Amino acid sequence: MKRYQLRIAGQWVDPAGGAWFESQNPFTGEAWAEIPRCDARDVDRAVQAAHAALTGGPWAEMTASQRGLLLHRLGDLVARDARKLAATEVRDNGKLIAEMQGQLNYVPHWYYYFGGLADKIEGAALPLDKKGYFAFTRKEPVGVVAAITPWNSPLLLAAWKLAPALAAGCTVVLKPSEFTSASTLEFVELFDEAGFPPGVVNVVTGLGKDVGSPLVEHPLVRKVSFTGSDATGRMINEQAARQFKHASMELGGKSPNIVFDDADLEQAVFGAVSGIFAATGQTCIAGSRLLVQDGIHDEVVERLVALAKTARMGDPMSMETQVGPVTTPPQYRKILDYIEVAKNDGAKLLLGGGPATRPECGKGWFVEPTIFGEVKNDMRIAQEEVFGPVLSIIRFRDEADAIRIANDVRFGLAAAVWTRDIGRAIRMSEKLQAGTVWVNTYRAVSYMAPFGGYKDSGLGRENGQEAIREYLQNKTVWINS
Ligand code: NAD
Repeated sequence: MKRYQLRIAGQWVDPAGGAWFESQNPFTGEAWAEIPRCDARDVDRAVQAAHAALTGGPWAEMTASQRGLLLHRLGDLVARDARKLAATEVRDNGKLIAEMQGQLNYVPHWYYYFGGLADKIEGAALPLDKKGYFAFTRKEPVGVVAAITPWNSPLLLAAWKLAPALAAGCTVVLKPSEFTSASTLEFVELFDEAGFPPGVVNVVTGLGKDVGSPLVEHPLVRKVSFTGSDATGRMINEQAARQFKHASMELGGKSPNIVFDDADLEQAVFGAVSGIFAATGQTCIAGSRLLVQDGIHDEVVERLVALAKTARMGDPMSMETQVGPVTTPPQYRKILDYIEVAKNDGAKLLLGGGPATRPECGKGWFVEPTIFGEVKNDMRIAQEEVFGPVLSIIRFRDEADAIRIANDVRFGLAAAVWTRDIGRAIRMSEKLQAGTVWVNTYRAVSYMAPFGGYKDSGLGRENGQEAIREYLQNKTVWINS
């Protein structure tokens, strides 16, 4: 079994407590790697290294253009190693190799884009109301960043944080999910090869309470950038607020995918299936509530069930597989519990509804693609994030009804509208309370397009030019001339 070490100040080191834990492969159920079980001592070592790199030495002396160049080099190295890193992620999170390969091929663009922005961070000369003074603003790195990521897309979501943070001149301590740490521990080596000075990026691994919490609490950390569940996000945000730390939160969702009767139904049904079953439903933007207009309801349901039935389940390393296993045993149990809750609450089971026992699923943690019809929006299955392959279908009458149902949830990460009417598309996109609205598509994201949540889905934005502001603070300089 492969044993990983920590990366702190450009060195491979063992955890202070000398303990490791096992990472399991969701398809085989077997342990395949040993991950360092860190504690507050390792966190302190990593934060001290990041603080030292921020406040002295080559990183602090570097020009913004030089930082940009390093980010470009890093992007090239990720592109070179994309295959290897994608295979490691599949071993850890059980997502499809086709998807992870696609993600890893795309990740370099975050480093290119933000590398390009590094030397375009500008302050301003102020047109003052006082004679005899000159004043200008400078944008400075906010400080040491604690970046905490979930298990579903470890290196993609790390790039959303690292690329803008490093472009801004910050240094980082990255903590991946305890379920999927291996790819991050392999990736971090590339920083040395790209030429980043030691201590600019450090990785600590382990449980949220042992590692994540002391990291957020550490007095030298000035910014927390978190992606994960809203329950953990709320706790971390409160912790950060007590020390007036900057915090951005990318949290969960219960996204509505809304199909009007004038939509291209073939496209919409395909969008509904990929919206919920891609990545086995384990994406923050999963279109887990399908809102269908009365007049086309029965036809859409029929087509949807027929298409979802054809999904090929099995080995995530096979390019043929369409639905893979669930990543973790607790998540597997949580999804099955939600299915029972929906049945008891009176939702009508149209497809699936339990563990997958197909021979091609082997010993993996598989749940059958599940569709519930006649769901009421106040049922738990329509209000709570399942994070699994479970779709709830809800009927609506007209635009006003669709908006009411879509917004009647505490989340607001994403939404989609399927219609051929441009006026309706515009009206809906204005009224939907969500950080991203798609029209006649689902799931598109880009390094250029700001991404983040309304309501309980989060605070702040990742991606696009706005993201870099999350890692900067303003200083005003007054000169008596
Ligand atoms: P999680 O909240 O359980 O864990 C996320 C990370 O936080 C892990 O690294 C974990 O170890 C750490 N953590 C746990 N407790 C902590 C604590 N007390 N202090 C500090 N860190 C702690 O989430 P998860 O189950 O890994 O991921 C699934 C969730 O992530 C879903 O809710 C999903 O919607 C969300 N997500 C959001 C986005 C987005 O961009 N909005 C993207 C992907 C996933």
